[in-house]
Parts: sequence; structure tokens; C-alpha cells
Amino acid sequence: RESLIQEIKETIEKKSVELLHMQFVDIEGTLKHVTITAEQLEQAVDGKVMFDGSSITGFTPINQSDLYLNPDLSTFAVLPWTEEDGYSEARFLCSVTTPGGDDFEGDPRNVLKKTVKRAKDKGYSISVGPELEFFLFETDEFGQPTIRTQDVGGYFEPSPKDEGEKVRLAIYKALKMMGFTIEASHHEVAVGQHEINFKYADALASADAATTYKWVVKTVAKQFGLHATFMPKPLAGANGSGMHTNISLFDEEKQENAFYDETDTLGLSETAYQFIAGLIDNVKDFVAVTNPLVNSYKRLVPGYEAPCYIAWSASNRSALIRIPATRGAGTRVEIRCPDPSANPYLAFAVVAAAGLDGVERELTAPPSVDADIFNMSLDEIQARGIENLPTSLESAIDRFETGEIGLKTFGEHAFSEYVSLKRSEWDDFRIAVTGWEVDAYQSKF
Ligand code: GLN
Ligand code: MG
Ligand code: MG
Ligand code: MG
Repeated sequence: RESLIQEIKETIEKKSVELLHMQFVDIEGTLKHVTITAEQLEQAVDGKVMFDGSSITGFTPINQSDLYLNPDLSTFAVLPWTEEDGYSEARFLCSVTTPGGDDFEGDPRNVLKKTVKRAKDKGYSISVGPELEFFLFETDEFGQPTIRTQDVGGYFEPSPKDEGEKVRLAIYKALKMMGFTIEASHHEVAVGQHEINFKYADALASADAATTYKWVVKTVAKQFGLHATFMPKPLAGANGSGMHTNISLFDEEKQENAFYDETDTLGLSETAYQFIAGLIDNVKDFVAVTNPLVNSYKRLVPGYEAPCYIAWSASNRSALIRIPATRGAGTRVEIRCPDPSANPYLAFAVVAAAGLDGVERELTAPPSVDADIFNMSLDEIQARGIENLPTSLESAIDRFETGEIGLKTFGEHAFSEYVSLKRSEWDDFRIAVTGWEVDAYQSKF
């Protein structure tokens, strides 16, 4: 720890870092920060930076509002876009502590840390590799986002069709300078839609990376006069944006991927099948977390490469869970329902907890479904016992509230805050009169 602090001091010196942003996320995963000067580094690393928790969604009531920021030293990064001659800014991602020095229960980062600890007690570490898709839209004369794009590119299409390629390159450079290992970058299926992939890491580091990635993508897009959005379904009739989550368990004692077994026909271990079974058994109870918005459920419909049926397959992209072809150390499952509006800390926590639940209870996975489910008749889908994911935020929140996985993973505080936040979001939508209703009914009735 001392040597890490020394390294940080040297970087501050070398890069003339003047300001430090102490960052954390609220219950929705929205990035927050308070900015201090680099001279205050010592107090900051000692966890002495205080803030008012009552103004943060899902945190504390006004009468117990003092909370402290405990920076994770491994997240220190200079912000490439602030660098000038003799000036720059840097950031830390922080966990939140109470005045008594305990982990604050309502902090999503602490929720994930608890799940990581639970896995560790069973001898596993959790590896996560998320794939976050996003749209780039033009802004209007007031700088406000529109849903217009000049980009006419399609899946994997290169410049000059793909206007976003310049922006992706700039995002790539910024992420790389902040320590990311970028693996791929490409235009996605819809116009204006893109994806940049970074290397998998342990669950906490990956949630930190996803949070940072969203911020960097938005920041760099803005420099080009564009607005980047992680809203799951901005355009009706086009693909939405997913956050496919690749996940595996690593056996700490044997020092090997716990999902791989070369003797199995599919190359998967008993643990992998149990993990898949746990995901399938719990998914209806956790989609309110991985798919948190009213808009999320407009993505989970047939025909747009997003899942709506609860099934798994070694190859099939219409299934909820796919097993990418890599085996050996890279063996993993890809769960395809999460979208990038989810809070990555909470999403990875519930997904990991659901899989671990399957391992703990030694559940048996249902048979895999390798045919294209989108082309099956309803009768066939029913005959195979394939169920639907919840189709609205309301039904998802009902399941989350009554299921076991939510309370167990979140703890009392974050759980009740999350439920009431999402209930009121649904209520707002329920009483709103939408453009669709006016179009469909006003002249007809
Ligand atoms: N955009 C699709 C989704 O909503 C995924 C497309 C892809 O990555 N193949 O999940
Ligand atoms: Mg991808
Ligand atoms: Mg994709
Ligand atoms: Mg994928």
C-alpha cells in the first residue's frame, strides 16, 4: 500500500495533477464526484473526505447524512482529456464508509464486494467481462441530445460510412491511457450504434471499468458534439443496446477455471452446469436489476438479437445464456439480458449470486435449446417448457421484491431503497400519457 501511494505521488508530480475527483456511484450507477486538490491526497487516502449522503439517490436519510469516501488506490487514473502543459486532473473510485468506519450498506460497490467475499469463502473468484453497446446521436443547437444520426453504418462496417469510427478511435485512446486493455471496437447493427470491448477482470475491477467506460464514452462523444447514450432502446424498430455479461468462476485452490472440463461433451464442468441452472432459476427475480428501466423491456422483444425466452445454448444467440466457443482458461457463460443502463456493481452482484446459488444448491440445468427460438411456434416453445422473461418493469419489480436473491444480495438498506425507487419510476410511467396513445386513439375515438 505504501509503495502504491508513493507511485501515485510520483505520477501527480510528473503529470502536474492539480485536482483529484473522488468518485462513487449512487444506487442507479450514476457516477458522482467531489473534487479536491492534489495537496489533500494524504487525507483522501486515509478516507477522510466526507460528503452529504442525503442528496444521493438511495443513500441516507437527512438525519444520518455524513458519509466518507474510501478510495480504491488501484483505480487512480489521470484523465487524458484534462492534460495540458503543466496541468492535469485525476480520479479515484471510492467505496463509502460510515462515520464509524464500517462499509456503508447502501453503497453499490460494497454490495458487490460482499458477493465477491461470499464466492471467496467458497474458494472462488469471479471473472466478469461485460460488452456495453451505445448509440451516438447528434445534439441540437442548444447542445441537447436528439435521436438523429448521420451515421448510416451497419454491423462491422468501416469508414467512410461509419462516422462514429473517429469517435471510437478517440474513445479507445482515452481508455487506453487510463489503463484499459481494449480487445475490439466495431460498429453495431443499428445506425449510430457502437461497441468497444475491454478485457475481462475480477468482478469488482470490471464493474469499476464499466462505470469508467460509460463516463469516458460520454465525455469523448461530447468533444465531437455528439451525445452518447446507454439507454437500452432509443429507436423503436432497431436493435437496442445490451450489456452482455461474460462470467466465470476461478477455483482459487486448483488455480484453474472452474467451468472447464475437457471430459464433458461440451467441455463444461459440473460447476458450470450448476451455475447456468442458478441463472435460469433466478433470472426472473433479478432482471429488475440487470434491466432496470421502463425502456429496458422494449429491448427484450423478439427479432432484435436480445433475449426474451429463458433458455441456454452452446451456440444460439436467441437464447438468454450462450456459451462462447472458447474453452480452457477462457471458458465462460454469456448472459445476454443485461443492458448498459444497469448499475454494473449491482448487476454483476445479482448475476454472480444467482449462479453461485445454483452451485450451492447443486441445481441441474435444463436441456440446452440449440434451435432458433425466434423461429419456433408458440406451441413448440410451450412444449419445450421455455418460459418468458418478465415483460415489464412492473412485473420485474414484483418478482424482485418477493424473490430471495434481491434481499440476500443487496442487504436490507439497498434492497428497500431499490424497490421503492423502481416502484415510483413505474408509477410515473403508469400515469403518463405517451405519444403512442395519442397517435393511436385521439382521432379514432
Ligand atoms: N444489440 C443486441 C442486444 O440488444 C446484441 C447484438 C450483438 O452484440 N450481437 O443485446
Ligand atoms: Mg459483443
Ligand atoms: Mg454487440
Ligand atoms: Mg456478446
